[in-house]
Amino acid sequence: MNEAPLIVARPQGLYCPPGDFYIDPWREVERAVITHAHGDHARPGHARYLAATAAEHVLRTRLGAITLQTIDYEDPIGINGVRVSLHPAGHVLGSSQVRVESGGRVWVASGDYKLNPDATCLPFEPVRCDTFITESTFGLPIYRWEDSERVFGDINAWWSANADSGRASVLFCYAFGKAQRILSGVDASIGRIVVHGAVEPLNRAYRASGVALPPTQLVSETDPADLTRALILAPPSAQGSPWLRRFGDYSDAFASGWMRLRGTRRRRALDRGFVLSDHADWPGLLQAVDATGAQQVIVTHGQVPVLVRWLSEHGLDASAFETEYGDEEAGDAVAAGHSPESA
Ligand SMILES: [Zn+2]
Ligand SMILES: [Zn+2]
Repeated sequence: MNEAPLIVARPQGLYCPPGDFYIDPWREVERAVITHAHGDHARPGHARYLAATAAEHVLRTRLGAITLQTIDYEDPIGINGVRVSLHPAGHVLGSSQVRVESGGRVWVASGDYKLNPDATCLPFEPVRCDTFITESTFGLPIYRWEDSERVFGDINAWWSANADSGRASVLFCYAFGKAQRILSGVDASIGRIVVHGAVEPLNRAYRASGVALPPTQLVSETDPADLTRALILAPPSAQGSPWLRRFGDYSDAFASGWMRLRGTRRRRALDRGFVLSDHADWPGLLQAVDATGAQQVIVTHGQVPVLVRWLSEHGLDASAFETEYGDEEAGDAVAAGHSPESA
């Protein structure tokens, strides 16, 4: 019986030895299968890329001219005798779990994922496997997400109240994924929606992919006197920048899973914090692992030791891969002077 691993961690990234390809490599390689277009998973410089058809526009928006082959979800292809297919991960548009089958065994590398509903991408699909490779960005029992419809209701109420008092509403959020999810959830009848220049190219990629988003404008396309009822979406890096001065006396808020941590909002001196994450919460991670039926689980990034310990204590063969995946949201927490480990 051949029990050689189907995926190993190499200095370049996660590697499938029988298929001779990498998954989300962090150094330049010949052949890269990409789970999604966030910067720590989709890096420039690989000779060839393979990703889900739904990821094409966002991937090209972020990486420019790359040699990209796309395949539809569920449609297997053979790579050096290994059967490879992509399955929705529910994280951002085009996000995929990579299913690898060889010698009668199945491994799944899930990239980043969430189980909560998201109108901008297909829902997470549990894939049965022998070995499941998972993130653990919010892998602590304190992380439990509220119903996202309720969070959108809170955002709409905040925006509406600001509009009624003649103040613009500045909402900081990650430019790819989170911004589009917010756009899909807000009530665009409250006022106009203005987006930072880092956000609009991704909006275009979503629209080109068939995702319905409300109309958005760049600041340059608006009358500055007419922004008092506006919702403004900007990346967290814009906080404290001169770009914001044009909005006058505005209210500001931040939408992120890290808003679950007491103190994050206060440290950033924000009026409001909305807990909205594109990653699985603690119950979501456990539910996802359980649904795969996997006996072996390998954790790649986030709260690695916590999840490994919990899974081991519950009878699974759990271990970790050393990876260079960061987290699009962790960067925000670090910028706020907050280490997730201190929670
Ligand atoms: Zn991601
Ligand atoms: Zn990640």
